[in-house]
Amino acid sequence: MILPKANRLTPAQVGEITAIVEAFGCRIQPIVGAVRTIYAIVGDERDELMFNRLEGLPFIERIDHIQSPFKLMDIRSDLATHRMAVGNVTLGQELLVIAGQCTIDPKNPNYFLETAAAVKEAGAHALRGGVWKPRTNPYAFQGDDKSLEILMEASRRTGLPVDTEVMDEGQLKLALDAGVQMLQVGARNALNYSLLRQIGAAVAGRKTIVLLKRSLHMGTLNEFISAAEYIANFGNPNVILCPRGTAPALDGYRNHPDESIVPLLKERTWAPVVIDPSHSVGRASYVPACALAAVAYGADGLCLETHVQPSQGIGDDPKQAITPDVLKELIVRAREAWKLVHAAKKL
Ligand code: PEP
Ligand code: MN
Repeated sequence: MILPKANRLTPAQVGEITAIVEAFGCRIQPIVGAVRTIYAIVGDERDELMFNRLEGLPFIERIDHIQSPFKLMDIRSDLATHRMAVGNVTLGQELLVIAGQCTIDPKNPNYFLETAAAVKEAGAHALRGGVWKPRTNPYAFQGDDKSLEILMEASRRTGLPVDTEVMDEGQLKLALDAGVQMLQVGARNALNYSLLRQIGAAVAGRKTIVLLKRSLHMGTLNEFISAAEYIANFGNPNVILCPRGTAPALDGYRNHPDESIVPLLKERTWAPVVIDPSHSVGRASYVPACALAAVAYGADGLCLETHVQPSQGIGDDPKQAITPDVLKELIVRAREAWKLVHAAKKL
């Protein structure tokens, strides 16, 4: 929808915008008001270049996007009835719980194997474990290919599907070849469009799920959903959105807790939303409250860093991993909250 600076466009100006929109297969429909005339763009108006050309015209005040920029992840798309399953949980029918260590320690595999058994016993449906880690400090532990074997061994022992982050094509191939069921795109890579495209192409035709974290640098919610669209565009729409706290950090928390965006996302997209309170608040003692708040906001699931002995963990675990006992209690409460929220929705 085009709003001119003046009350209406001159015939020459209409000619100019008509030439631009026709080049993109659209046409202009004036909507004549008592004082102002505005101009609807009729046709598929999603081409960014058309908008950039129109916005470059000196006589245009504003252009509003009427159509959603995403074709597949939009709440009005045909995929809105698409349901995805993680292990034996169908998203939307039951609260999904993903739990496990931030980072697998290849020197001490037993911690991870014990954590895996304990999160299963606590009621988690999927196991997380970082094989490769995006670290701010280049001298910090970056992960190890060997941890992939430990991850898959834990999956075999528990029967739980596993989730791990991949940051490049090599790791993507290793993870898929090993049988990883859920690939995480971390906050740092959620705007890495080359990686999103590589992942989309690699998971097309598979049942693999992609857990897409929200980048600290994402401005609008549409930017987040568009990142999911990049992946889904190749043919596998199994993308879960995962808010995990954003910038600037709230004094005392690691990031700014953003579980409150769940209802806003759900107005725009059918994609399930799984909240990661661990990275959001960044301290084990704050995690349960954030997790329950996420469920109250309508989250479809939770991703919780958990470790049998957090103090012995590496990566984020010493500060933000909860213990399996806390996880067990939290899952009981979160399920009750989930039922309350869903019962309320029926009113
Ligand atoms: C993680 O899940 O351990 C992680 C690094 O997450 P994020 O990308 O959200 O920081
Ligand atoms: Mn972590």
